[in-house]
Amino acid sequence: MLQDQDRIFTNIYGMHDRSLKGAIKRGHWDGTKELIGLGRDKIIDIMKASGLRGRGGAGFPTGLKWSFMPKESDGRPAYLVVNADESEPGTCKDREIMRHDPHTLIEGCLIASFAMNAHACYIYIRGEYIREKEALQAAIDEAYAAGLVGKNACKSGWDFDIYLHHGAGAYICGEETALLESLEGRKGMPRMKPPFPAGAGLYGCPTTVNNVESIAVVPTILRRGGDWFAGFGRPNNTGTKLFAISGHVNNPCVVEEAMSIGFEELIDRHCGGIRGGWTNLKAVIPGGSSVPCLPRDVMKDAIMDFDWLREQRSGLGTAAVIVMDQSTDIIKAIWRLSKFYKHESCGQCTPCREGTGWMMRVMERLVTGEAEVEEIDMLLDVTKQVEGHTICALGDAAAWPIQGLVRHFRDEIEDRIKAKRTGRVSAVAAE
Ligand code: SF4
Repeated sequence: MLQDQDRIFTNIYGMHDRSLKGAIKRGHWDGTKELIGLGRDKIIDIMKASGLRGRGGAGFPTGLKWSFMPKESDGRPAYLVVNADESEPGTCKDREIMRHDPHTLIEGCLIASFAMNAHACYIYIRGEYIREKEALQAAIDEAYAAGLVGKNACKSGWDFDIYLHHGAGAYICGEETALLESLEGRKGMPRMKPPFPAGAGLYGCPTTVNNVESIAVVPTILRRGGDWFAGFGRPNNTGTKLFAISGHVNNPCVVEEAMSIGFEELIDRHCGGIRGGWTNLKAVIPGGSSVPCLPRDVMKDAIMDFDWLREQRSGLGTAAVIVMDQSTDIIKAIWRLSKFYKHESCGQCTPCREGTGWMMRVMERLVTGEAEVEEIDMLLDVTKQVEGHTICALGDAAAWPIQGLVRHFRDEIEDRIKAKRTGRVSAVAAE
């Protein structure tokens, strides 16, 4: 279990002063000039040694991503863009950083930008995060007033500007290239890759897009060392991590824990257990709405990290853990996600635009049981035709929850169809 002295986020519950004064008291902005003095290569080496993998869902190694940025400028400026468009259903961890511990993020932006030769950083925050935006902007203003950012930031000799951009509430703007389009003032539509942002990103310039949590942990990693961070979790799955647990637990919460914590320990220790006890657990979506759900038998012994969950054909994603007990109509729950992805598809590529609607409509009939049993395999077939055949990952995100449902709850779907035939509609489906 993670000890209090090893927590990076010391104010995620907003119990303490979030202003600059409070942040400094809790150890932020301590020796930032010296951290910058380490120099670019050393900072990137420490980040690589820490084993930090991106906290936005994909889990790509952060230090490696930074090293893709050009060492020497060809005349174009470089940018750091922070993805604060946290919109994945179930995910609510970055908002706690932004509204209660904003200085961790701002200090991280300065150091990360320096490490990537960027004099400017843009934070793209989702439209619905109004209070979070206010808190973050207030913290940015404080940092400017104190000389921590701006010209000669922290007296390091590095000029650094930071801008907060408020989105308009489209889920797809959380996809990094759609985010860049939106930031440039266009409709948020994903770009074809390559070119990757490190080559041509914001305004056609070298850009790295990182998640809020990935950047906010940087100053502490540099202060305490890459080895310290790498000491938590399992190899290749290191560090501390914010878990956002929602659904049928007694106390839903966001909590910082060591990576690779057991699911049972996570729930019992921080959420007061499953509602109605462990035998009442039905399924869990372990990493935000786009990853396949897993049934109780698998989740009981789950190790909450990237590799273990991947081995179970699911994923850690954003570590947004959605817990569902036996009262859940799992078919209806997954249909609701299908509806979400259909609504949020930008419509740019055919498999996603048509496929998400197609999948949602079949799911709709599976909920009521008004379908043929053969349609389950047809639906699975459609998910395979969408998965991997689209410009961005939204296509996969729409396909995976359905694949998880069919993999683990096919019996329930078939039972409902048969029950409908025989006039025995279950109470849940009839609602
Ligand atoms: Fe747009 Fe969907 Fe294609 Fe992504 S996969 S670019 S959301 S149509």
